[in-house]
Amino acid sequence: MRVAVFSTKPYDEEFLRSANQQAGHELVFLEPRLSEETAALAAGSAAVCAFVNDDLSAGVLARLAEQGVRLVALRSAGFNHVDLATAAKLGITVARVPGYSPHAVAEHCAGLILALNRKIHRAYNRVREGNFALSGLLGFDLHGRTVGVIGTGKIGVCFIKIMAGFGCRVLAYDPYPGDAAREAGAEYAPLAQVLGESDVVALHCPLTPETHHLINAESIEQMRDGVMLINTSRGALVDTAAVIEGLKRGKIGFLGLDVYEEEADLFFEDLSDQMLRDDIFSRLITFPNVLITGHQAFFTEEALGNIAATTVANVTAFERDEGELHRVTADVLA
Ligand code: NAD
Repeated sequence: MRVAVFSTKPYDEEFLRSANQQAGHELVFLEPRLSEETAALAAGSAAVCAFVNDDLSAGVLARLAEQGVRLVALRSAGFNHVDLATAAKLGITVARVPGYSPHAVAEHCAGLILALNRKIHRAYNRVREGNFALSGLLGFDLHGRTVGVIGTGKIGVCFIKIMAGFGCRVLAYDPYPGDAAREAGAEYAPLAQVLGESDVVALHCPLTPETHHLINAESIEQMRDGVMLINTSRGALVDTAAVIEGLKRGKIGFLGLDVYEEEADLFFEDLSDQMLRDDIFSRLITFPNVLITGHQAFFTEEALGNIAATTVANVTAFERDEGELHRVTADVLA
């Protein structure tokens, strides 16, 4: 099957080529992001392979359908960027990679917590400049602290295990509580209690209409003074303007982000010789207690290998109508 692979980076090409050796699909690697302007590049392909910042809104899907595209194979678990209802109307099947390495994201989340707490990003620069002073680097023991986990799916449960290993008390909120989180050491509690009692709040739920701006001025107010907030899930879970206000007041003591509401115009590109045009992002990076990574939590060898293998398997399952196709439909959200 001919597959137009949008937003291709060299590492995507390497892992997809390797996973495709047996399957033998015709992969057309395209650097541009998928948008109304670039959708024409999919001409002649029955499938499109897309990543998190590709545009799969109604207009783009209509253009793809006009060109004969019948499958959108996402290289991601999240599918909040796809207009699933329109895809269904146009007869386009949407598939995703439901879980590729929950460890990758959970471990990165733990990395952000450790770096922020012990100010490793600042210490690294100081030592390189011959400054061995410790003032300003004071941290706290994670042991005995309360960590709040919002969303206890695959990544949330991995993260609970890591935090339990540090000796933290783990409080969790999920509208669908599960035994795996309890067995990993978490205690379920209502959202307000999780926010109110946690020293660290970590977001591991998907972006849905219900979770959009879950962290806003009101929910920040419910948190402990000096709380550490970590978002490795999706940018729009957090109202960035409200978080900036919280940081300015000292209500939020630490902020770790791997995702950002308006990341599509920034992340995955080298913009180091350009001026940043996003004033909100520019403000965020002025805070010494904010640590941002550019959507790299998934970026491990294991995860890339699994993403490529499942993506190719999804294409094969769709083409042959056999084997497991990880289909996403509008009712998945419900
Ligand atoms: P999952 O589907 O296994 O788990 C999601 C959990 O969130 C489920 O238990 C669900 O019940 C819960 N949930 C749904 N609505 C909720 C709400 N309103 N409040 C609290 N919990 C709610 O998903 P996962 O594999 O654990 O991934 C979680 C999210 O992580 C994904 O949706 C994706 O957005 C994000 N992610 C980020 C990266 C990255 O590189 N930064 C990589 C992969 C996934």
